[in-house]
Amino acid sequence: MTLVSPAFSPDLCLLPMNQSTSQALFARAQLRIPGGVNSPVRAFKGVGGTPLFIQRAEGPYVIDEDGNRFIDYVGSWGPMILGHARAEVLEAIQRAAANGTSFGAPTRAEVEFAELMGELMPSLEMVRLVNSGTEATLSAIRLARGYTGRARILKFSGCYHGHGDSLLVAAGSGVATLGIPGTPGVTAETARDTMTSRFNDLPALEAIFAEHGAELAAVIIEPVAGNMGCVLPKPGFLERLRALCTEHGALLILDEVMTGFRVALGGAQSLYGIEPDLTTLGKIIGGGLPVGAYGGKREIMAHVAPSGPVYQAGTLSGNPLAVAAGMTQLKILRDNPDIYATMDARGARLKEGFIAAGQAAGVPLVGASVGGMFGVFFSPTPVDSFEAAQASDVEAYGRFFHALLGRGVYLAPSAFETSFLSTAHSDEVVEETLSAVGEALREVSENRR
Ligand code: PMP
Repeated sequence: MTLVSPAFSPDLCLLPMNQSTSQALFARAQLRIPGGVNSPVRAFKGVGGTPLFIQRAEGPYVIDEDGNRFIDYVGSWGPMILGHARAEVLEAIQRAAANGTSFGAPTRAEVEFAELMGELMPSLEMVRLVNSGTEATLSAIRLARGYTGRARILKFSGCYHGHGDSLLVAAGSGVATLGIPGTPGVTAETARDTMTSRFNDLPALEAIFAEHGAELAAVIIEPVAGNMGCVLPKPGFLERLRALCTEHGALLILDEVMTGFRVALGGAQSLYGIEPDLTTLGKIIGGGLPVGAYGGKREIMAHVAPSGPVYQAGTLSGNPLAVAAGMTQLKILRDNPDIYATMDARGARLKEGFIAAGQAAGVPLVGASVGGMFGVFFSPTPVDSFEAAQASDVEAYGRFFHALLGRGVYLAPSAFETSFLSTAHSDEVVEETLSAVGEALREVSENRR
């Protein structure tokens, strides 16, 4: 890791010998914040050790409270596609803030933003802004139920759609059984309306539709799964899902919170040629500020209040700072379309480089990449579902994560998360990453013997 600016920190005065500022802050945080973090994955439980407390970030780097600089492949879990602290985005936020931070009334910018999103993603005939991906998915599910008059939904194991009750549901036993609560606090009654199937498993999908198709209000899916590691849809899987939804009158919700404006300018739906009924978005469309959106066919969206009966609202929805940041980011993406080919090539180079380094070190890896997402599993066999991801060597991933962190590269602190690229991850940064990966994998392999 590179020490750039060992800035003075008042915490240092309180530290026992050898304790880092991140360790001291984590100890303090745990007294006041559940688990010391405001979102669970940040706590490093998936890899062990103490989370880094980030002081600032620039381009492809994050810098922690101890002044260590890391190449960042988390990218705030997706929004930072142009790298951290991109000048045009910061200026847009500052300009908007000078005019006031929230009005609770309509603005010109949100109209232009809805128009821009519809231009880039034509299935968004109408769109409603919310404040997070979670809000987007739970609102889309409510709309699907209100529109179809049906109760049940189908999701895929390992796909994450935020923490709404209906979506925090684990698979029951067997293929076509009803869900069970995925966490205390979700009632059995709620869970029962959520069915779960295996990602990329067409026979299971056909079986569920054959038995329950007429009961389904919607099927929600990450078109490229990013919450079980990075797992691509098999050719034909999304196409058949689309056809089954149409046949049985269930809405298809593509959850593009991660993939939207990331795997292609028009999202995964343009990449794979799938037309959803509804799409959920977040992350990139806020440029790092809290935002989400759901949208789709005019005929369906017209059911949302106040034009229709399905209630959904938000004090800060369409917040002028978030809209300014998101619009600036989307316009940069629109005006520089080769960004996607470049990121695609760099993501592929990283995936191939990880796998080759694994081969050299005697550690079998498999991986996937698309646009600005990539990931590898410690597995000798291909991973096409959450069940297969769970069979990978999660403990080896943890050791690899720390070996890389010690060499200045910050991957997701969990084997079940995708890595994110930005346009600021240049070829040089990619090659620097790969030489650290080679060393880290040798370390993992030596510890195995
Ligand atoms: N859907 C997907 C596909 C996601 O990856 C996430 C968050 N990682 C969400 C929904 C929820 O978004 P948020 O964290 O903004 O609530």
